[in-house]
Amino acid sequence: AHLDRIAEVDGDLNAFLHVSADEALTTAAGVDSRRASGEELGPLAGVPIAVKDVVVTQGLPTTAGSKILEGWVPPYDATLVERIKAAGLPILGKTNMDEFAMGSSTEHSAYGNTKNPWDLERIPGGSGGGSAAAVAGLEAPLAIGTDTGGSIRQPGAVTGTVGVKPTYGGVSRYGLIAMASSLDQAGPVTRTVLDAALLHELIGGHDPRDSTSIAEPIPALVAAARQGATGDLRGLRVGVVKELSGEGYQEGVSARFTESLDALRALGAEIVEVSCPHFVYALDAYYLIMPAEASSNLAKFDGMRFGLRVEPAEGPVTAERVMAATRGAGFGDEVKRRVILGTYALSAGYYDAYYGSAQKVRTLIQRDFAAAFAQADVLVSPTAPTTAFKFGEKLDDPLAMYLNDVATIPANLAGVPGMSVPNGLSDGLPVGFQILAPAKADDRMYRVGAALE
Ligand code: GLN
Repeated sequence: AHLDRIAEVDGDLNAFLHVSADEALTTAAGVDSRRASGEELGPLAGVPIAVKDVVVTQGLPTTAGSKILEGWVPPYDATLVERIKAAGLPILGKTNMDEFAMGSSTEHSAYGNTKNPWDLERIPGGSGGGSAAAVAGLEAPLAIGTDTGGSIRQPGAVTGTVGVKPTYGGVSRYGLIAMASSLDQAGPVTRTVLDAALLHELIGGHDPRDSTSIAEPIPALVAAARQGATGDLRGLRVGVVKELSGEGYQEGVSARFTESLDALRALGAEIVEVSCPHFVYALDAYYLIMPAEASSNLAKFDGMRFGLRVEPAEGPVTAERVMAATRGAGFGDEVKRRVILGTYALSAGYYDAYYGSAQKVRTLIQRDFAAAFAQADVLVSPTAPTTAFKFGEKLDDPLAMYLNDVATIPANLAGVPGMSVPNGLSDGLPVGFQILAPAKADDRMYRVGAALE
């Protein structure tokens, strides 16, 4: 049914870069026979899933939305893909994204725009617009996204889906094409909070192949979602982050946010205001740390090891000139912009002033979170300042594009988990409600998210 739906609507949506129909049907048939032979299978066995194209999949093309990886077929699976396959979830295909996960609208994909199923003239968010559009457009019941600065949660908000960025280290990064290694996390994109909990429990947990993976079990997320669904939040303290609402947020977004606070109050939660004074610098710190790490991570795309190789149009064919020609032709403008920013921030004489200062701000943001979580069990805010904007609206203005992430970026800088749940509509377009929890307390978000549903 989902393959039929993809055939029907993906010509318009362009959520998928590659559809793996044969593999999906083979997995589904395998699940049927495992079941017939009496094998006990997990709750998601046979439920199809779409995977963001920044996650490597053995035998399925993986481009990260870039021309530089066009035609590359990975020889191995990411850990989370191994777990998905072992649990019998058919992989429907790979979803569109901003090139190397750099963007907030999926307009930076080298393979065309993904459309928002709510309004085909509008962006589906980014960088994981393909995964969010696939779920919102009923092409897939589940999807995998990655979130370095909001790329699961902001697309979730603007497409009316649930998106979760787990605690840093909660889901293995082995087999994720790295953007910024100290910020990247993979997580679920779903239609309900319970679905997200089931998928998160499946992909999460320790992996010795990722040195930053947390070596302890993840909390009981499905149980927390079920507890939240009873609608009882008595005893829970919900902190409204003063710096993440109000000015700069669209009127409809603020209105829906206030209504959800009322709903939480009605379920017995206590609402308190908290201040995180350094959050106003989060975007600035992020746009130094992320490009610095990305410039280093992207150095491996050199025309020698993977995908595209371009020889210089004229002159000698030296290794350096092949690298320059390949990177010049293979990377899009946004990727080049960030590689230049990152190498600049890391260069001798500037390192302390830019990268060093940004890391100090990061520590201050972590301290803000620690102080806020002493006053509240979870923190909340709108997920994104606006609903889905139109194609082209922010494409020529990188700063306007970057501002989409003001509310989502602090969580990545501190490594804490964040969730976006649908929060009604404003002028017919979905709004997102963000819930943040302390590191390793992802279960709290599931409780609150399910209560709001
Ligand atoms: N929009 C943010 C950026 O462009 C977030 C990206 C992400 O989370 N992958 O960097």
